[in-house]
Amino acid sequence: MRSRPGRHQPVRNSTQSAVCLALTSDSPLHSSFTRQARQAIVLAMLCAAGLLCTTLQQAVGGEPARPAADAVGPNATEAGSGWKAGFGRVRITPEKPMFASGYGGRDKPTEVTVHELYARTAALQDADGNTVVVIGLDLIGVPDKTMASVISREIEKKHGIPRENLMFASSHTHSGPALDDMLSHMMAMSPEDWQVVRDHQLLLNQKVIQAIEEAIADLAPALVSAGSGNCGFASNRRYPRGIGPYDHSVPVLRVTTPDGSRIRGMVYGYACHNTVLGMYTWNGDYAGYASSWLEDRFPGAVAVFHAGCGADQNPLPRRTVELAEKYGRMLGYACSLVVREEMQPVAPKARAAFSRTDLAFDQLPTEARIRENLKSSSRYERARAGVLLEQLQSQGSLSPTYPYPVQVWQLGDTITWVALGGEVVVEYALRLQQELDSPQVWVTGYANDVMAYIPSERILAAGGYEGDTSMIVYQQPSKWKTGLEDQIVGEVRKLTEAIGGQVKAPSDR
Ligand SMILES: [Zn+2]
Repeated sequence: MRSRPGRHQPVRNSTQSAVCLALTSDSPLHSSFTRQARQAIVLAMLCAAGLLCTTLQQAVGGEPARPAADAVGPNATEAGSGWKAGFGRVRITPEKPMFASGYGGRDKPTEVTVHELYARTAALQDADGNTVVVIGLDLIGVPDKTMASVISREIEKKHGIPRENLMFASSHTHSGPALDDMLSHMMAMSPEDWQVVRDHQLLLNQKVIQAIEEAIADLAPALVSAGSGNCGFASNRRYPRGIGPYDHSVPVLRVTTPDGSRIRGMVYGYACHNTVLGMYTWNGDYAGYASSWLEDRFPGAVAVFHAGCGADQNPLPRRTVELAEKYGRMLGYACSLVVREEMQPVAPKARAAFSRTDLAFDQLPTEARIRENLKSSSRYERARAGVLLEQLQSQGSLSPTYPYPVQVWQLGDTITWVALGGEVVVEYALRLQQELDSPQVWVTGYANDVMAYIPSERILAAGGYEGDTSMIVYQQPSKWKTGLEDQIVGEVRKLTEAIGGQVKAPSDR
């Protein structure tokens, strides 16, 4: 597939756009004095031109009182109103030393914090009282059985919010804690170390519930708008590196007060492995730094990150805290440019769908083969053999399929937002951006359950880590069976139509 940048750009009017850029340049090189002086001069000129009202609102991030002719809706402010929105943020950095997850080479617990980990949440309630909550987590993933399902049941019981209305989006930081029932044998951990992980999981789930409830309690009238920016540090990591497809788009949801005067929060994404770092320290990595940067720039706002389809994308070069901070600034800045310009208003209608489709494994190993692998020279292969043998003995057979989670949200007529489980390669986002018919098509990976890599059909055929061998680390019995890409995309199309979204006919793509 040919490489190309994200196709969605913010709606803008050329005159207002030029004014807005003049007012909002916030390069670190600009001193606040210089910025204020320039703003004063430009504002004086605009007063004379009768453009002050519109521009002042844009300068603080709100919608213009009189939208540009090419903006969506007759009045951007009214079109994006009717929502209630709320945000939450709870620190989830482990309080006791424990193993970090993401790299198998670590052989001791992590205890030093370089950058705090958070669960950040955004709740959106539409005009009919339907509430959806996106949960951004500075974690390697989201185990379904021990985390997403447990929390969902609790939230449904206490608040009546159904499973499909909760989107668990992990940032995939490789400097976060090990999770129960996920990548369980990647690290060389003792039974005592595992007990620490299980105990921590219970505590972590309670903190995430707290973050969700904070957002629900914070629900208040709001304007909701959408847009998309661009950020270029993700690089396709499959050989030859840097040549393959990528998705540099930065989808952004902005929530302001009803008068548009203050940004209360934003939800933004990026498709790239969150793996600048991988040492013995807690760190949200570039995504964590991006959220912190945005929250510093917009006091009182919460910036919720969700990872796109970046399974075959790496931040390169990497491996220093300075680089993680730099990529965080780049992404935060890209997001800030979007929220400070005119965006597309989102009508107050939220619909959600969630399903599980059974993805088939290619070929299940025989018991003899599994027993042979118990003697493998590879620690990961031995660990997988142990897990599979246990399944075989307790269940009588290995499951030939995995219940793969697919979720779609439709927000107004503006955003079709897909959330896929697992480590999803970028071609899914590029394909869905073509196949779904919406002004904004957002595709989140690492969502709701992270059980394996999800290769495209092309990568599955080519093999390598994302197409085949990573299944050993994830303790899955074999690579996926051919046909998974069409199956997943087909499920997305079905759910999208079920909630009133639009899909393109094959001839329209
Ligand atoms: Zn990964």
